[in-house]
Amino acid sequence: MAKRDYYEILEVSRSASADEIKKAYRKMAIKYHPDKNPGDKAAEEKFKESAEAYEVLSDPQKKQRYDQYGHAGLGGGSGGFGGGGMNMEDIFSQFGDIFGGGSFGDFFGGGGRGGRTRANVGSNIRIKLKLSYADIRGGVEKKIKYRKQVLAKGATFKDCGTCRGTGQVNRITQTFLGQMQTVSPCPTCNGTGKILSNRPAGANENGLVYEEIETTIKIPAGVQEGMQLSISGKGNAAPGGGIDGDLLILIEEEAHPELERQDQHVIYNLVISVTDAILGCSVEVPTIEGKAKITIDPGTQSGKVLRLRGKGFPEVNGYHTGDQLIKIHIWIPKKINSDEAELLKKLRDSENFSPKNAKKDKSFIDKMKEWF
Ligand SMILES: [Zn+2]
Repeated sequence: MAKRDYYEILEVSRSASADEIKKAYRKMAIKYHPDKNPGDKAAEEKFKESAEAYEVLSDPQKKQRYDQYGHAGLGGGSGGFGGGGMNMEDIFSQFGDIFGGGSFGDFFGGGGRGGRTRANVGSNIRIKLKLSYADIRGGVEKKIKYRKQVLAKGATFKDCGTCRGTGQVNRITQTFLGQMQTVSPCPTCNGTGKILSNRPAGANENGLVYEEIETTIKIPAGVQEGMQLSISGKGNAAPGGGIDGDLLILIEEEAHPELERQDQHVIYNLVISVTDAILGCSVEVPTIEGKAKITIDPGTQSGKVLRLRGKGFPEVNGYHTGDQLIKIHIWIPKKINSDEAELLKKLRDSENFSPKNAKKDKSFIDKMKEWF
């Protein structure tokens, strides 16, 4: 699905100031907030979409890349992982301050969102993972180690007295939309409904301790720099016992010494000599998976692109695999000796070497047009 333009989503012009963008997002967030549109999937999508747009346009670096290159400039974002979009937890935790002061949760009544309680979910853990081109092309299993909060041995809980174990309290809030009765997470137990009754040594106020975790994760083929892989239940344990958060893996690409990724394709610049271009030759080129032998036909022009089909990167959620594109550059020597000069002077007058021949070569003329 093609992504909509971020400026269009927020209904602002491309020259909008940071303040105008913030105001526009605030407007969208209120309009499409899940609390105001319970069960409305379309509103939820719009809510997520505007959060994503704001995430980019409120970040000067991301905004600049987006202005210059569009969605492609942000890496990833197409294919898997929820279309590069954001999940609700991310939105609520990142943009709470958009309303100034209180959080989204406070403003709209915390746990009341679509009947979901959110307090009893552990926090997410974010880690970065660097992958080689070979890892990305083939998909890979990686063993990773990270620190995660788990429930300490011996920690016990009792029901919270303030909310009688429900995790929620009712209250009246003054908002810019007027007075609202809201359901808020209980301040005593932070919405968990549970209070720690036995806190083992080393545990925090929620009875959690850090533990080093080793786990194997499967990275699908075709991921891209900037994509985020979410593995549910591998994040921190929830305070008061609940659902563990997610492990969010941010993909980074390791630069290749000779190849360069361009979306699904991989580019290689091949430099050959004038004589090899005229006579033809056979050369070895690097590919993501080892070397490949290719043939340069006699009479190959500079700028010609050879294609090794299917030697690029696969789409994450697709069937298409990109190609390796080999761009040919011809090296003209800058210094030659007198013997070489003699040979070339003899060739200078040869009919075959006359540039007039280019005009008769349709493919050459077509190529020239492409260059401008
Ligand atoms: Zn409570």
